[in-house]
Amino acid sequence: MPLYRDEAIVLRTHKLGEADRIITLLTRHHGRVRAVAKGVRRTTSRFGSRLEPFTHVDLQLAEGRNLDTITQAETLTPFHSEIGLDYDRYTAGTVMLETAERVAAEEREPSLQQFLLLVGGLRAMSTGQRTPSQVLDSYLLRSLAVAGYAPSFEHCARCGLEGPHRWFNPSMGGVLCATCRVPGSASPAAETLVLLGALLAGDWPVVEAAEPRHLKEASGLVAAYLQWHLERALRSMAYVER
Ligand SMILES: [Zn+2]
Repeated sequence: MPLYRDEAIVLRTHKLGEADRIITLLTRHHGRVRAVAKGVRRTTSRFGSRLEPFTHVDLQLAEGRNLDTITQAETLTPFHSEIGLDYDRYTAGTVMLETAERVAAEEREPSLQQFLLLVGGLRAMSTGQRTPSQVLDSYLLRSLAVAGYAPSFEHCARCGLEGPHRWFNPSMGGVLCATCRVPGSASPAAETLVLLGALLAGDWPVVEAAEPRHLKEASGLVAAYLQWHLERALRSMAYVER
């Protein structure tokens, strides 16, 4: 069987048979890949804990007819050890992993940008330099933007009129001017819209200066935007403290 190497983040694992697992990966070069890790649930497994969710690994895989098989795994960054110790980091990080899996809709469709975004997001989450919910919101907006759903927080999402605008509607792609406004649009604080733009751009000084009520309102709008564009709520979203 032909072998290949790649670098990946472990997104999810599930049991297969007596001792194996299917590992869902976001790889650097091959996009989303599902592969079998044989014997990984045995205490004597040579993989140890290297194939746990969040781990950044260097892999060797053997191509299979249906699923590839992981033949070697080396830890590059043990993100799970930093993220798994803190409940807020863990729940926010889990939403990141689920989102990464959902935005990589097609298996084996490479997206280097999504991979780098996830690695960067997990690194920020594991250092604890920023709050988990700020790291998460920034990651979600950027990941959706890379996937082709870039929200507009300044120009009207419908007619392009220069802002600032008062209305926000996830289904319309962002803010709306008074003319384009549709029923059911939210009217967030002006500061919240500035904050959302900063989260998307990674403008951390603006994010750090934001008031808690605006951060909270922004998180709600990010969640609404994500849910609309991924078409169904993420299971883990309910557990993130807001
Ligand atoms: Zn408009």
